[in-house]
Amino acid sequence: MSRILIVEDEKKMAEGIRDNLEFEGHSVRIVDTGEKCLDAVQSDPPDLILLDVMLPKMSGFDVCKTLRQKKIRTPVIMLTARGQEIDKVLGLELGADDYITKPFSLRELISRIKAVLRRSSPDREAPGLCKIGLLEVDFGRYTATDAKGPVDLSHKEFELLRYFMEHAGQIVNRDQLLDRVWGYDIYPNSRTVDNFIVRLRKKIEPNPSQPRHLLTVHGFGYKLVL
Ligand code: CA
Repeated sequence: MSRILIVEDEKKMAEGIRDNLEFEGHSVRIVDTGEKCLDAVQSDPPDLILLDVMLPKMSGFDVCKTLRQKKIRTPVIMLTARGQEIDKVLGLELGADDYITKPFSLRELISRIKAVLRRSSPDREAPGLCKIGLLEVDFGRYTATDAKGPVDLSHKEFELLRYFMEHAGQIVNRDQLLDRVWGYDIYPNSRTVDNFIVRLRKKIEPNPSQPRHLLTVHGFGYKLVL
């Protein structure tokens, strides 16, 4: 059972989702504004937030951004309207874990919730404080520092690095990364992974053009060497 917070001002929509999630055994609360969501997250933290983009006053994007600025890492699935392709990407940039476009089937929503919860489950906190060369990463607090000081990693970069940490020394292929770090076909394009790896190398490798930690294994994928 997980505690799920629904942030949606369309009452019928919210209640329909709630009834189904309760049927699945989850404990569900509904709030109808972003402001109430921020209060609820502080007073009674949920395991996952279903966050509608279109809300009165504060938008779902602003809510997500505010949560991440406050270092609240509760998984967020954004509910977007059809045709808001750019919004989806923006939502993910702002730290959302996944999105689903209305109208969606409840079956699809439930499987996405499961996937996001699986990716964020407590055993994934296991790496805690890690060292990769001179880089020190605290996965619990989402901070990273090297010899020069704090290293600014995005939410997705932390998730990517965490997955590599959990599989340190093993070859990880792009499909695995897309499935476990991105989830579903948000970017049905393995080049996304390559671009993220390039960006991550610039942040964590002393010499990004000759990586010593995040290695390419030609024809297979990547491998993290500590
Ligand atoms: Ca709405």
